Amino acid sequence: MAMRRVAFHGRHLLSSSHLFCRHMSTEPMAALDRIRNSGLLKTQGLVGGKWIDSYDGKKIEVQNPATGDVIASVPCMGSKETTDAISSAYSTYSSWSKLTAAERSKTLRNWYDLIIKHKDELALLITLEQGKPIKEALGEVNYGASFIEFFSEEAKRIYGDIIPAPLSDRRLLVLKQPVGVVGAITPWNFPLAMITRKVGPALACGCTVVVKPSEFTPLTALAAADLALQAGIPPGALNIVMGNAPEIGDTLLKSTQVRKITFTGSTAVGKKLMEGSASTVKKVSLELGGNAPCIVFDDADIDVAVKGSLAAKFRNSGQTCVCANRILVQEGIYEEFAKAFVKAVQGMQVGNGLVEGTSQGPLINEAAVQKVEKFVNDATSKGANVILGGRRHSLGMTFYEPTVVSNVNRDMLLFKDEVFGPVAPLVPFKTEEDAISMANDTNAGLAAYIFTKSIPRSWCVSEALEYGLIGVNEGIISNEVAPFGGVKQSGLGREGSKYGMDEYLEVKYVCMGNLKGT
Ligand code: NAP
Repeated sequence: MAMRRVAFHGRHLLSSSHLFCRHMSTEPMAALDRIRNSGLLKTQGLVGGKWIDSYDGKKIEVQNPATGDVIASVPCMGSKETTDAISSAYSTYSSWSKLTAAERSKTLRNWYDLIIKHKDELALLITLEQGKPIKEALGEVNYGASFIEFFSEEAKRIYGDIIPAPLSDRRLLVLKQPVGVVGAITPWNFPLAMITRKVGPALACGCTVVVKPSEFTPLTALAAADLALQAGIPPGALNIVMGNAPEIGDTLLKSTQVRKITFTGSTAVGKKLMEGSASTVKKVSLELGGNAPCIVFDDADIDVAVKGSLAAKFRNSGQTCVCANRILVQEGIYEEFAKAFVKAVQGMQVGNGLVEGTSQGPLINEAAVQKVEKFVNDATSKGANVILGGRRHSLGMTFYEPTVVSNVNRDMLLFKDEVFGPVAPLVPFKTEEDAISMANDTNAGLAAYIFTKSIPRSWCVSEALEYGLIGVNEGIISNEVAPFGGVKQSGLGREGSKYGMDEYLEVKYVCMGNLKGT
């Protein structure tokens, strides 16, 4: 409780006229009461349409990272519960996959409508268990819901092909069919959207799913699953298990009934899942870590570059896979950019995400803060300068000061790896070739950003960057209609957009022969 008081010290509470409030209080307990009253505080796993505890009664506590308070306890599940969830998904597959596309589409649309109806409660839940500011949480609910809406529409567009046959008595058809049962493992940084981006297309195609959300953020997943049941998604089509991650993961990998693994998370775990999928030759989609360069050229519009790189860097306190990890700035604009960027960063308010005006919440846990500290210490020990922040925030807990570090170079951890925190490293460069070479000097290849007024340069640099997503003069680029995914060790496959459907479909060729009719 003492810690919660510290976190709220000197902050303004949301007023009743605020965007999110239908009488919402900033007090976490009141927020929790509101969620409970809406019926969306689910604290059991979901298997075969039934809410269940772990078979041995073990539980995990879910904490609010802004206060350290325990929000709820959920079952700590393992192999046995996962096996039952797989069986349930497997038996439901035969009926769900046989519905017409229009029927599946309608049910998904109902789910979308319910998510939007409960967007305030879902946003509160995201802020409580993940820590992001309520405005960003609401943005995540809209973003997460958009995948369900989009894929409810795409369900009706799973077209096959007819191929001109090389022999006159044959007709060659291509059918697209669901892959079967899907195991989906998701991270804590987008507790809703990383689930809907997978489950939306999977259900639209006729697959059934076992989801394992992060142990840090299971409550949003459970609330979303409850809305799915209310929407008419049949028991067993969507199952949620959480707890012992390696055990749940291994059970999904070993099962011959699970035909696909889809994962968002760290590159290290992604590699293990890819390896583990080999024994049963599963289809695999991986959305892994990034190391995004954000390149500011001399000819950039400085206001656009500052606004765009600020958004790309500090969203979710730097805890997104597409966050700008290295801000490469050309020498001619370096000083001017650094000054304007620092000024913009100074304007950001750190605090509990439920407090009005907060733009930087806490990091997810102590290990995340220690990683940030290690990276900053490594940089300063090798000659970089902290020009803003560089310490834990006076609010305590896992709050860290928004930080800008100048003169970062290729030898530093801040350049080589994903810091996943509110630290912006500025890296000077001379020429366009230098910038491209530095940007591509990593095993990651998820997002990259360019700021320039030159259209030829926008084209050339976009083509030269070894990344799956490029933002030109824009720091926030992800949406449901565009393909999201990485190259190199940032992943396999694409999510969102029409391409996101392919990940859940098999292509079947049918040759009809001996058509010697009239
Ligand atoms: P993580 O540690 O890899 O965890 C991701 C998920 O994998 C969690 O549900 C986790 O469970 C589970 N997991 C951990 N070990 C496992 C195992 N041995 N077998 C099966 N599952 C296992 O990653 P994170 O820290 O949550 O997320 C941050 C990372 O995700 C960053 O690298 C970020 O860049 C990446 N990310 C990528 C994208 C993208 O679209 N490319 C999007 C968001 C995040 P528990 O949490 O319960 O341990």
